[in-house]
Amino acid sequence: MDKYEVLKKYFGYNSFRNGQEKIIDNILAGRDVLGIMPTGAGKSICFQIPALIMEGVTIVISPLISLMKDQVRLLIENGIKAAYLNSSLSAGQYRKALYNAYNNFYKIIYVSPERLFTDSFLELSKKINISMIVVDEAHCVSQWGHDFRPSYLKICDFLSLLKKRPIFTAFTATATERVREDIKNLLKLQNPYSITTGFERKNLYFDVIQAKDKDKTFELLKLLNEVRNDSVIIYCGTRKKVNEIYNLLLTKGYKAAKYHAGLSNIERRRNQEEFIYDKKNIFVATNAFGMGINKPDIRMIIHFNMPKNIESYYQEAGRAGRDGEPSKCIMLYSDSDMVLNNFLINNNTNSELNPEQIKQIKSQDYKNLDNMMSYCKGTQCYQKYMLNYFGEKIEQCKNCGNCLSDFEEIDFTFEAKNIFASILETNEKYGIKMICDILKGSKTNKKIFDLEYDSILSYGSLKRISLTSLKTYIKELIHKDYIYIESEEYPILKLNKKSMNFITGKTDQKIKLKQRKKQKSIFKINKTQSDDSILYDSIKKLRSNLAKEQNVPAYVIFSNRTISHICKVLPTEPSDLLDVVGFGENKIKRYGKYIVDIVNKYISNSME
Ligand code: ADP
Repeated sequence: MDKYEVLKKYFGYNSFRNGQEKIIDNILAGRDVLGIMPTGAGKSICFQIPALIMEGVTIVISPLISLMKDQVRLLIENGIKAAYLNSSLSAGQYRKALYNAYNNFYKIIYVSPERLFTDSFLELSKKINISMIVVDEAHCVSQWGHDFRPSYLKICDFLSLLKKRPIFTAFTATATERVREDIKNLLKLQNPYSITTGFERKNLYFDVIQAKDKDKTFELLKLLNEVRNDSVIIYCGTRKKVNEIYNLLLTKGYKAAKYHAGLSNIERRRNQEEFIYDKKNIFVATNAFGMGINKPDIRMIIHFNMPKNIESYYQEAGRAGRDGEPSKCIMLYSDSDMVLNNFLINNNTNSELNPEQIKQIKSQDYKNLDNMMSYCKGTQCYQKYMLNYFGEKIEQCKNCGNCLSDFEEIDFTFEAKNIFASILETNEKYGIKMICDILKGSKTNKKIFDLEYDSILSYGSLKRISLTSLKTYIKELIHKDYIYIESEEYPILKLNKKSMNFITGKTDQKIKLKQRKKQKSIFKINKTQSDDSILYDSIKKLRSNLAKEQNVPAYVIFSNRTISHICKVLPTEPSDLLDVVGFGENKIKRYGKYIVDIVNKYISNSME
């Protein structure tokens, strides 16, 4: 069978996506490969198809049991002989899997990196014909990545123990140059065919919502209104926040589960399964919940708190919409996020580092935070900003909150000058609240009268401006580097050369603020209800029953995209399902009859 036949027969797809075909051709030609492709791009097929075509067995090294289970279930569903060998198997199950492996029953075997050096696995590896070794989530080899796994460093040693060096391939969705270089060097790939496909995720909508106050729950609940029963992850900055939001959602009647490092292993596993198996659709978590999530149908990722850098954000947000369907990535921003992150960086003490190293790390952390802030405050295309940060040039995505909005430019030079004056007249001793009170001419702030600030020039000079606008202007001046914040016990506003030039009349430039006026169009994650939603829901129900019977997550049976396509194609005989994306021969054999029964019933009902 050639690669196209394998793609159709086992996976039910008609064509390859960007990069897949070249990778497959290179593997089949015997060359090592380094594949760097974003989440959802379809990395698995790149090694699974050659694994099926080549003689022998392919070993896939994967860092997490949950990832292995997921992949193997999906392969078995597609009629491919596959297994995993890891600590989740009982002694009996492990023996049986080894026996099958010795007898060349499997085409693909997933193993954890720790398993490679066990006696039983080493012995097996020497006896069977290994066509290829695949390192999945290859960024785990790098200390600069998010998920460093020391055991990944030993993978090379494993290869050197084999009689014959198989083809060696590595895949990851990492976006940073430093990690990519580490993968190549530490895994010692030999003259690999390297490919980095674009990191743009066209099905994702990015936006930042500027929350009115610290609480943000108003904005959060509004977002959740949109999702109906779809899967959502809410990432929070602290365990405490996870607990708070989780409790709030329960009282509001949402089906929520939670996850953080303070829960026991059993609780975490149980809660995660409730989410993966669609028993709960909202998952409130700290960033401890990460790599194990293969769930393809997450429609929204909400960041309740701003993460500390762009890398973390793009990776976490990127867990939305792996299935290619429209999905949203929303950050709820408030200024308290900045304060929290500054605090965390400032108090980051690591006893293993010397003072000079700590200083360097802190300075890098502040830079990263600055970039994250610019993302939150900027008016640019969100996706373009992030990809530029990773060194990739793209056009505007035309799909994010900023791209879909109209902006107006407000000249606030007059207000800025008064703000500067007020800071100067009070000897740069106060924070935002006091400066606003002075500028608004507060009659209730006693301190103003005690210190006789009611007689300075700036007192009451901006009394006609709303407090919200005034705060926005001050924050914009901070963002534009006219004012900086000195944090002692509490944050104090200070002037610099740039702002002093205004006060002394050395510059007459305008200071402007670009503000969103209105959103031109709304990006929807749910298509509006239509007639075919009856059919859609019936097939979803069938899928849910099949999943329950087999005790697997629903997406393992078939994807939401497949259901949408069934509603379009309306297959009335099992063979019609060959035209449906994601239906290979095995699935047609197993589920074809049930589906066409539902479709036929739907058609006859609609004709009545
Ligand atoms: P990654 O590992 O890169 O995040 P996956 O391998 O999990 O992505 O693939 C994401 C989704 O895209 C899966 O549902 C997969 O079946 C689907 N997919 C992969 N290749 C194709 C293709 N050529 N045509 C259609 N769908 C594909």
